[in-house]
Amino acid sequence: MAFNTFIGGIHPPENKHLTEDKAFSNLSIPQLCYIPMQQHVGKPANPIVEVGDTVREGQLIGLSDGYISANVHASVPGKVVEIGRYPTLYSKEGVCVVIEAQGAFSTSGKILDEEQWESLTALDLINRVAEAGIVGLGGAAFPTHVKLQPPRKRQIDTLIVNGSECEPYLTVDDMLMQTHPSEIIEGVRVALKILGITQAFIGIEKNKPKAIQALEERLTAISIPEKITVAPLKVKYPQGAEKQLIHSILKRNVPSGGLPMDVHVVVQNVGTIFAIREAVVLRKPLFERFITVTGEIVKKPGNYKARLGTRISDVIEECGGLTEKPGKIIMGGPMCGIAVDTIEIPVVKGTSGLLFLKNEEIQVSQYRPCIRCGRCVAVCPAGLMPFELVNAIEKGRYDLVEPSNPFDCIMCGSCAYCCPSKRPLNHFIRMAQEKLHKKHKQ
Ligand code: SF4
Ligand code: SF4
Repeated sequence: MAFNTFIGGIHPPENKHLTEDKAFSNLSIPQLCYIPMQQHVGKPANPIVEVGDTVREGQLIGLSDGYISANVHASVPGKVVEIGRYPTLYSKEGVCVVIEAQGAFSTSGKILDEEQWESLTALDLINRVAEAGIVGLGGAAFPTHVKLQPPRKRQIDTLIVNGSECEPYLTVDDMLMQTHPSEIIEGVRVALKILGITQAFIGIEKNKPKAIQALEERLTAISIPEKITVAPLKVKYPQGAEKQLIHSILKRNVPSGGLPMDVHVVVQNVGTIFAIREAVVLRKPLFERFITVTGEIVKKPGNYKARLGTRISDVIEECGGLTEKPGKIIMGGPMCGIAVDTIEIPVVKGTSGLLFLKNEEIQVSQYRPCIRCGRCVAVCPAGLMPFELVNAIEKGRYDLVEPSNPFDCIMCGSCAYCCPSKRPLNHFIRMAQEKLHKKHKQ
Protein backbone atom coordinates (compact mmCIF):
# COMPACT_ATOMS: atom_id res chain seq x y z
CA MET A 1 0.00 0.00 0.00
CA ALA A 2 1.42 3.44 -0.92
CA PHE A 3 1.01 6.27 1.56
CA ASN A 4 0.74 9.99 1.08
CA THR A 5 2.59 12.73 2.93
CA PHE A 6 1.69 16.03 4.55
CA ILE A 7 2.15 19.53 3.16
CA GLY A 8 5.23 21.51 4.26
CA GLY A 9 7.96 20.20 6.51
CA ILE A 10 11.74 20.11 6.26
CA HIS A 11 14.57 17.62 6.07
CA PRO A 12 17.24 18.57 8.61
CA PRO A 13 20.43 16.45 8.77
CA GLU A 14 19.43 13.15 10.36
CA ASN A 15 22.57 12.61 12.44
CA LYS A 16 21.42 9.17 13.51
CA HIS A 17 24.66 7.44 12.54
CA LEU A 18 26.13 7.73 16.05
CA THR A 19 23.62 5.30 17.56
CA GLU A 20 21.43 3.72 14.87
CA ASP A 21 23.26 0.38 15.04
CA LYS A 22 23.76 0.34 18.80
CA ALA A 23 21.79 -2.44 20.50
CA PHE A 24 20.19 -1.64 23.86
CA SER A 25 22.28 -2.00 26.97
CA ASN A 26 21.33 -1.33 30.58
CA LEU A 27 22.68 1.68 32.42
CA SER A 28 23.90 0.75 35.90
CA ILE A 29 21.59 1.37 38.82
CA PRO A 30 22.40 4.79 40.30
CA GLN A 31 23.15 4.92 44.01
CA LEU A 32 20.52 7.64 44.43
CA CYS A 33 17.38 7.91 42.31
CA TYR A 34 15.56 11.28 42.24
CA ILE A 35 12.03 10.36 41.22
CA PRO A 36 9.86 13.37 40.35
CA MET A 37 6.16 13.27 41.23
CA GLN A 38 5.50 15.28 38.06
CA GLN A 39 6.53 13.26 35.02
CA HIS A 40 3.42 13.87 32.98
CA VAL A 41 0.96 16.44 31.71
CA GLY A 42 -1.60 17.32 34.41
CA LYS A 43 -1.43 17.37 38.19
CA PRO A 44 1.63 15.90 39.95
CA ALA A 45 1.23 12.64 41.85
CA ASN A 46 1.10 12.81 45.65
CA PRO A 47 3.89 10.98 47.50
CA ILE A 48 2.52 8.11 49.60
CA VAL A 49 5.80 7.07 51.20
CA GLU A 50 7.78 8.68 54.00
CA VAL A 51 11.45 9.21 54.70
CA GLY A 52 12.83 6.00 56.20
CA ASP A 53 10.42 3.69 54.37
CA THR A 54 11.81 0.67 52.58
CA VAL A 55 10.40 0.28 49.06
CA ARG A 56 10.36 -2.50 46.49
CA GLU A 57 11.32 -2.07 42.85
CA GLY A 58 8.11 -1.04 41.10
CA GLN A 59 6.23 -0.15 44.29
CA LEU A 60 3.70 2.67 44.01
CA ILE A 61 5.25 5.74 45.67
CA GLY A 62 3.19 8.56 44.12
CA LEU A 63 -0.59 8.37 43.71
CA SER A 64 -2.15 10.13 40.72
CA ASP A 65 -4.12 13.19 41.73
CA GLY A 66 -7.25 13.44 39.60
CA TYR A 67 -8.21 12.41 36.10
CA ILE A 68 -5.32 14.04 34.22
CA SER A 69 -2.47 12.71 36.32
CA ALA A 70 -0.43 9.50 36.59
CA ASN A 71 0.91 7.12 39.22
CA VAL A 72 4.65 7.07 39.94
CA HIS A 73 6.58 3.96 41.04
CA ALA A 74 9.94 3.23 42.66
CA SER A 75 12.58 2.67 39.99
CA VAL A 76 14.87 0.84 42.39
CA PRO A 77 14.47 -1.07 45.62
CA GLY A 78 15.86 0.70 48.65
CA LYS A 79 15.26 3.27 51.31
CA VAL A 80 13.50 6.61 50.95
CA VAL A 81 16.15 9.03 52.20
CA GLU A 82 14.46 12.30 51.35
CA ILE A 83 11.34 13.86 49.90
CA GLY A 84 12.52 17.22 48.68
CA ARG A 85 12.46 19.80 45.91
CA TYR A 86 14.93 19.40 43.08
CA PRO A 87 15.26 20.63 39.49
CA THR A 88 13.27 18.48 37.08
CA LEU A 89 12.29 18.76 33.44
CA TYR A 90 9.04 20.45 34.40
CA SER A 91 10.03 22.63 37.34
CA LYS A 92 13.06 24.23 38.96
CA GLU A 93 11.75 22.88 42.27
CA GLY A 94 9.80 19.71 41.58
CA VAL A 95 8.92 17.35 44.42
CA CYS A 96 11.12 14.25 44.19
CA VAL A 97 11.19 11.07 46.25
CA VAL A 98 14.89 10.24 46.68
CA ILE A 99 15.63 6.52 47.01
CA GLU A 100 18.97 5.08 48.01
CA ALA A 101 19.31 1.80 46.10
CA GLN A 102 19.72 -1.29 48.28
CA GLY A 103 18.20 -4.75 48.62
CA ALA A 104 16.88 -7.24 46.09
CA PHE A 105 15.39 -6.49 42.68
CA SER A 106 12.00 -8.05 42.07
CA THR A 107 11.96 -7.83 38.25
CA SER A 108 15.46 -7.01 36.97
CA GLY A 109 17.25 -9.91 35.37
CA LYS A 110 14.20 -12.16 35.80
CA ILE A 111 11.88 -13.63 33.22
CA LEU A 112 8.45 -12.38 34.21
CA ASP A 113 5.32 -14.49 33.90
CA GLU A 114 3.12 -13.51 30.98
CA GLU A 115 -0.55 -13.17 31.84
CA GLN A 116 -3.32 -14.06 29.48
CA TRP A 117 -5.15 -10.82 28.62
CA GLU A 118 -7.55 -11.65 25.77
CA SER A 119 -10.36 -12.63 28.14
CA LEU A 120 -10.08 -9.40 30.19
CA THR A 121 -12.55 -6.58 29.62
CA ALA A 122 -11.53 -3.23 28.17
CA LEU A 123 -12.08 -1.74 31.63
CA ASP A 124 -9.74 -4.29 33.24
CA LEU A 125 -7.10 -3.45 30.64
CA ILE A 126 -7.43 0.31 31.03
CA ASN A 127 -7.19 -0.07 34.80
CA ARG A 128 -3.90 -1.92 34.39
CA VAL A 129 -2.58 0.86 32.15
CA ALA A 130 -3.62 3.52 34.67
CA GLU A 131 -2.22 1.59 37.65
CA ALA A 132 1.13 1.24 35.86
CA GLY A 133 1.42 5.01 35.38
CA ILE A 134 1.79 4.86 31.61
CA VAL A 135 2.10 8.21 29.81
CA GLY A 136 3.04 9.17 26.24
CA LEU A 137 6.68 8.15 25.87
CA GLY A 138 7.26 10.10 22.66
CA GLY A 139 7.85 13.18 24.79
CA ALA A 140 4.32 14.51 25.26
CA ALA A 141 3.82 12.54 28.51
CA PHE A 142 0.01 12.77 28.38
CA PRO A 143 -1.58 10.10 30.63
CA THR A 144 -2.28 7.12 28.35
CA HIS A 145 -5.38 5.82 30.15
CA VAL A 146 -7.06 9.16 29.41
CA LYS A 147 -6.07 9.14 25.74
CA LEU A 148 -7.34 5.60 25.33
CA GLN A 149 -10.77 6.59 26.65
CA PRO A 150 -12.09 9.30 24.33
CA PRO A 151 -15.59 10.63 25.11
CA ARG A 152 -18.32 8.17 24.01
CA LYS A 153 -19.73 10.51 21.40
CA ARG A 154 -16.38 10.45 19.53
CA GLN A 155 -16.42 7.26 17.50
CA ILE A 156 -12.89 5.94 16.97
CA ASP A 157 -12.17 3.63 14.02
CA THR A 158 -8.36 3.64 13.76
CA LEU A 159 -5.32 3.47 16.01
CA ILE A 160 -2.15 4.97 14.56
CA VAL A 161 1.13 3.95 16.17
CA ASN A 162 3.84 6.54 15.74
CA GLY A 163 7.11 4.83 14.89
CA SER A 164 8.29 7.56 12.55
CA GLU A 165 10.96 8.97 14.91
CA CYS A 166 11.48 11.96 12.65
CA GLU A 167 13.59 13.87 15.20
CA PRO A 168 17.27 14.01 14.18
CA TYR A 169 19.75 12.07 16.35
CA LEU A 170 17.17 9.85 18.12
CA THR A 171 17.21 6.11 17.35
CA VAL A 172 15.51 4.60 20.38
CA ASP A 173 12.16 3.84 18.69
CA ASP A 174 13.94 2.42 15.65
CA MET A 175 15.91 0.01 17.84
CA LEU A 176 12.79 -0.89 19.84
CA MET A 177 10.90 -1.85 16.67
CA GLN A 178 13.87 -3.84 15.34
CA THR A 179 14.34 -5.80 18.53
CA HIS A 180 10.81 -6.17 19.98
CA PRO A 181 8.35 -6.51 17.07
CA SER A 182 6.29 -9.25 18.80
CA GLU A 183 5.84 -7.18 21.95
CA ILE A 184 4.85 -4.12 19.94
CA ILE A 185 2.25 -6.05 17.96
CA GLU A 186 0.83 -7.49 21.18
CA GLY A 187 0.73 -3.98 22.65
CA VAL A 188 -1.16 -2.75 19.58
CA ARG A 189 -3.68 -5.56 20.04
CA VAL A 190 -4.19 -4.61 23.69
CA ALA A 191 -4.74 -0.95 22.72
CA LEU A 192 -7.19 -1.99 19.98
CA LYS A 193 -9.17 -4.06 22.47
CA ILE A 194 -9.33 -1.11 24.87
CA LEU A 195 -10.58 1.13 22.05
CA GLY A 196 -13.03 -1.51 20.84
CA ILE A 197 -11.74 -1.39 17.24
CA THR A 198 -9.74 -3.68 14.96
CA GLN A 199 -7.74 -1.43 12.62
CA ALA A 200 -4.24 -0.07 13.29
CA PHE A 201 -1.39 1.39 11.26
CA ILE A 202 2.21 1.59 12.42
CA GLY A 203 3.75 4.64 10.69
CA ILE A 204 7.51 4.37 10.17
CA GLU A 205 9.76 6.62 8.09
CA LYS A 206 11.45 4.78 5.22
CA ASN A 207 14.91 5.45 6.65
CA LYS A 208 14.26 2.61 9.14
CA PRO A 209 14.16 -0.40 6.80
CA LYS A 210 15.16 -2.92 9.50
CA ALA A 211 12.28 -1.82 11.74
CA ILE A 212 9.82 -2.00 8.84
CA GLN A 213 11.09 -5.45 7.92
CA ALA A 214 10.98 -6.78 11.50
CA LEU A 215 7.37 -5.74 12.01
CA GLU A 216 6.20 -6.87 8.57
CA GLU A 217 7.84 -10.28 9.00
CA ARG A 218 6.24 -10.74 12.39
CA LEU A 219 2.83 -9.71 11.11
CA THR A 220 3.14 -12.18 8.23
CA ALA A 221 4.15 -14.99 10.59
CA ILE A 222 1.18 -14.71 12.96
CA SER A 223 -2.53 -15.06 12.57
CA ILE A 224 -4.53 -12.41 14.43
CA PRO A 225 -8.09 -11.18 14.03
CA GLU A 226 -7.06 -7.50 13.96
CA LYS A 227 -5.89 -5.67 10.82
CA ILE A 228 -2.50 -4.18 11.62
CA THR A 229 -0.61 -2.57 8.73
CA VAL A 230 2.92 -1.18 8.60
CA ALA A 231 2.90 2.19 6.81
CA PRO A 232 6.32 3.15 5.39
CA LEU A 233 6.37 6.96 5.20
CA LYS A 234 8.38 9.65 3.45
CA VAL A 235 11.38 10.87 5.44
CA LYS A 236 10.33 14.36 6.37
CA TYR A 237 10.15 16.34 9.60
CA PRO A 238 7.68 16.52 11.45
CA GLN A 239 6.27 13.25 10.09
CA GLY A 240 5.62 12.07 13.66
CA ALA A 241 3.38 15.00 14.64
CA GLU A 242 -0.11 13.63 15.21
CA LYS A 243 -2.00 15.68 12.64
CA GLN A 244 0.67 15.16 9.99
CA LEU A 245 0.82 11.42 10.65
CA ILE A 246 -2.96 11.12 10.32
CA HIS A 247 -2.92 13.03 7.06
CA SER A 248 -0.05 10.94 5.66
CA ILE A 249 -1.68 7.60 6.51
CA LEU A 250 -5.42 8.22 6.23
CA LYS A 251 -5.63 11.48 4.25
CA ARG A 252 -7.88 12.86 6.99
CA ASN A 253 -7.45 16.46 8.14
CA VAL A 254 -7.82 17.28 11.82
CA PRO A 255 -9.71 20.60 11.88
CA SER A 256 -8.13 23.79 13.23
CA GLY A 257 -8.26 23.66 17.03
CA GLY A 258 -9.30 19.99 16.85
CA LEU A 259 -7.89 16.69 18.07
CA PRO A 260 -7.24 13.33 16.35
CA MET A 261 -10.48 11.98 17.84
CA ASP A 262 -12.35 14.55 15.72
CA VAL A 263 -11.38 12.42 12.72
CA HIS A 264 -11.95 9.13 14.59
CA VAL A 265 -8.29 8.41 15.34
CA VAL A 266 -6.16 7.79 18.43
CA VAL A 267 -2.38 8.13 18.07
CA GLN A 268 0.13 6.45 20.40
CA ASN A 269 3.90 6.43 20.26
CA VAL A 270 5.51 3.03 19.69
CA GLY A 271 7.34 3.22 23.05
CA THR A 272 4.02 3.82 24.78
CA ILE A 273 2.57 0.77 23.05
CA PHE A 274 5.49 -1.28 24.36
CA ALA A 275 4.86 0.04 27.88
CA ILE A 276 1.13 -0.75 27.59
CA ARG A 277 2.01 -4.35 26.79
CA GLU A 278 4.40 -4.55 29.77
CA ALA A 279 1.71 -3.11 32.08
CA VAL A 280 -0.98 -5.54 30.92
CA VAL A 281 0.91 -8.74 30.12
CA LEU A 282 3.75 -8.54 32.64
CA ARG A 283 1.95 -6.34 35.24
CA LYS A 284 5.05 -4.16 35.19
CA PRO A 285 4.73 -0.49 36.14
CA LEU A 286 6.57 2.16 34.15
CA PHE A 287 9.76 2.68 36.15
CA GLU A 288 12.37 2.39 33.39
CA ARG A 289 12.54 3.30 29.72
CA PHE A 290 14.78 3.16 26.67
CA ILE A 291 16.66 6.35 25.76
CA THR A 292 19.20 7.43 23.15
CA VAL A 293 22.29 9.13 24.56
CA THR A 294 24.07 10.90 21.75
CA GLY A 295 26.22 13.71 20.41
CA GLU A 296 29.75 13.81 19.03
CA ILE A 297 31.18 14.62 22.44
CA VAL A 298 29.69 11.55 24.15
CA LYS A 299 32.42 8.90 24.52
CA LYS A 300 29.98 5.96 24.37
CA PRO A 301 26.85 7.11 22.54
CA GLY A 302 24.14 4.47 22.34
CA ASN A 303 20.65 3.24 23.07
CA TYR A 304 20.23 2.45 26.75
CA LYS A 305 17.64 1.32 29.25
CA ALA A 306 17.57 3.79 32.13
CA ARG A 307 15.79 3.81 35.48
CA LEU A 308 13.48 6.81 35.81
CA GLY A 309 15.07 9.17 38.30
CA THR A 310 18.63 8.59 37.06
CA ARG A 311 20.24 12.02 36.89
CA ILE A 312 21.95 13.22 33.70
CA SER A 313 25.23 13.37 35.63
CA ASP A 314 24.98 9.61 36.30
CA VAL A 315 24.10 8.92 32.65
CA ILE A 316 27.16 10.87 31.48
CA GLU A 317 29.41 8.86 33.78
CA GLU A 318 27.91 5.58 32.56
CA CYS A 319 28.47 6.63 28.94
CA GLY A 320 32.18 7.11 29.52
CA GLY A 321 32.00 10.87 30.03
CA LEU A 322 32.19 13.73 27.52
CA THR A 323 35.20 14.77 25.48
CA GLU A 324 34.51 18.45 26.14
CA LYS A 325 32.13 20.72 28.04
CA PRO A 326 28.80 20.72 26.21
CA GLY A 327 27.49 23.95 24.72
CA LYS A 328 23.95 22.70 25.17
CA ILE A 329 22.20 19.67 26.67
CA ILE A 330 18.80 18.74 25.30
CA MET A 331 16.28 16.26 26.68
CA GLY A 332 14.76 14.81 23.52
CA GLY A 333 15.79 15.74 19.99
CA PRO A 334 17.17 19.03 18.66
CA MET A 335 13.88 20.14 17.08
CA CYS A 336 11.27 19.46 19.78
CA GLY A 337 13.43 18.68 22.81
CA ILE A 338 13.91 20.89 25.86
CA ALA A 339 17.28 22.44 26.70
CA VAL A 340 18.26 21.88 30.31
CA ASP A 341 20.66 24.00 32.34
CA THR A 342 21.84 21.48 34.92
CA ILE A 343 23.05 17.90 34.78
CA GLU A 344 21.24 17.16 38.05
CA ILE A 345 17.91 16.80 36.23
CA PRO A 346 16.68 13.18 36.24
CA VAL A 347 15.46 11.05 33.34
CA VAL A 348 11.65 11.00 33.36
CA LYS A 349 8.93 9.09 31.51
CA GLY A 350 8.97 11.54 28.59
CA THR A 351 12.76 11.43 28.09
CA SER A 352 13.33 9.84 24.69
CA GLY A 353 16.94 10.92 24.54
CA LEU A 354 19.77 13.05 25.83
CA LEU A 355 21.66 15.10 23.26
CA PHE A 356 24.95 16.78 24.07
CA LEU A 357 25.95 19.46 21.56
CA LYS A 358 29.29 21.22 21.15
CA ASN A 359 29.50 24.99 21.32
CA GLU A 360 30.05 25.31 17.57
CA GLU A 361 26.94 23.20 16.88
CA ILE A 362 24.68 25.79 18.47
CA GLN A 363 23.31 28.76 16.56
CA VAL A 364 23.75 31.76 18.81
CA SER A 365 23.66 34.51 16.17
CA GLN A 366 21.42 37.52 16.73
CA TYR A 367 18.20 37.33 14.76
CA ARG A 368 17.46 39.96 12.13
CA PRO A 369 14.35 41.62 10.68
CA CYS A 370 12.06 39.58 8.45
CA ILE A 371 12.81 39.91 4.75
CA ARG A 372 9.44 38.43 3.75
CA CYS A 373 10.99 35.58 1.80
CA GLY A 374 8.02 33.32 2.60
CA ARG A 375 10.11 30.24 3.47
CA CYS A 376 8.46 29.87 6.86
CA VAL A 377 5.05 29.77 5.20
CA ALA A 378 6.14 27.15 2.69
CA VAL A 379 7.41 24.74 5.38
CA CYS A 380 4.76 25.23 8.06
CA PRO A 381 2.93 21.88 8.29
CA ALA A 382 0.08 23.55 10.16
CA GLY A 383 -0.69 25.88 7.26
CA LEU A 384 0.06 29.02 9.31
CA MET A 385 1.69 32.29 8.23
CA PRO A 386 4.46 32.35 10.86
CA PHE A 387 6.02 35.65 9.79
CA GLU A 388 2.71 37.51 9.92
CA LEU A 389 1.78 35.91 13.22
CA VAL A 390 5.10 36.88 14.80
CA ASN A 391 4.89 40.37 13.33
CA ALA A 392 1.56 40.84 15.14
CA ILE A 393 2.98 39.31 18.35
CA GLU A 394 5.99 41.67 18.30
CA LYS A 395 3.68 44.65 17.90
CA GLY A 396 1.40 43.42 20.68
CA ARG A 397 -1.52 43.29 18.23
CA TYR A 398 -3.36 40.40 19.89
CA ASP A 399 -6.51 41.38 18.02
CA LEU A 400 -4.65 40.07 14.93
CA VAL A 401 -2.88 37.19 16.69
CA GLU A 402 -6.00 35.34 17.87
CA PRO A 403 -7.74 35.04 14.48
CA SER A 404 -4.48 33.64 12.99
CA ASN A 405 -4.90 30.34 14.90
CA PRO A 406 -1.71 30.42 17.01
CA PHE A 407 -2.89 27.30 18.88
CA ASP A 408 -2.61 25.28 15.67
CA CYS A 409 1.17 25.69 15.92
CA ILE A 410 2.67 22.34 16.93
CA MET A 411 6.01 23.89 17.92
CA CYS A 412 7.88 21.82 15.36
CA GLY A 413 10.42 24.61 14.77
CA SER A 414 10.47 24.08 10.99
CA CYS A 415 9.86 27.81 10.40
CA ALA A 416 12.75 28.93 12.60
CA TYR A 417 15.01 26.24 11.11
CA CYS A 418 14.64 27.59 7.58
CA CYS A 419 14.46 31.32 8.33
CA PRO A 420 17.42 33.16 6.72
CA SER A 421 17.05 35.92 9.33
CA LYS A 422 17.36 33.32 12.13
CA ARG A 423 14.11 34.50 13.68
CA PRO A 424 13.01 32.30 16.63
CA LEU A 425 9.46 32.21 15.30
CA ASN A 426 8.22 29.24 17.32
CA HIS A 427 9.46 30.80 20.56
CA PHE A 428 7.46 33.95 19.84
CA ILE A 429 4.40 31.81 19.10
CA ARG A 430 4.82 29.78 22.29
CA MET A 431 5.03 33.05 24.24
CA ALA A 432 1.80 34.23 22.60
CA GLN A 433 0.09 30.90 23.36
CA GLU A 434 1.03 31.22 27.05
CA LYS A 435 -0.21 34.81 27.17
CA LEU A 436 -3.51 33.88 25.54
CA HIS A 437 -3.95 30.88 27.87
CA LYS A 438 -3.55 33.21 30.86
CA LYS A 439 -5.99 35.71 29.34
CA HIS A 440 -8.62 33.02 28.71
CA LYS A 441 -8.27 31.70 32.26
CA GLN A 442 -9.05 35.14 33.81
S1 SF4 B 1 11.46 32.76 6.80
FE1 SF4 B 1 12.10 34.42 8.16
S2 SF4 B 1 12.66 36.07 6.80
FE2 SF4 B 1 11.46 34.62 5.57
S3 SF4 B 1 9.35 35.36 5.74
FE3 SF4 B 1 9.61 33.90 7.36
S4 SF4 B 1 10.23 35.13 9.13
FE4 SF4 B 1 10.52 36.39 7.33
S1 SF4 C 1 4.50 28.05 13.00
FE1 SF4 C 1 4.51 26.34 14.40
S2 SF4 C 1 3.74 24.60 13.22
FE2 SF4 C 1 4.32 26.20 11.76
S3 SF4 C 1 6.46 25.68 11.23
FE3 SF4 C 1 6.54 27.13 12.91
S4 SF4 C 1 6.68 25.89 14.75
FE4 SF4 C 1 5.96 24.53 13.09
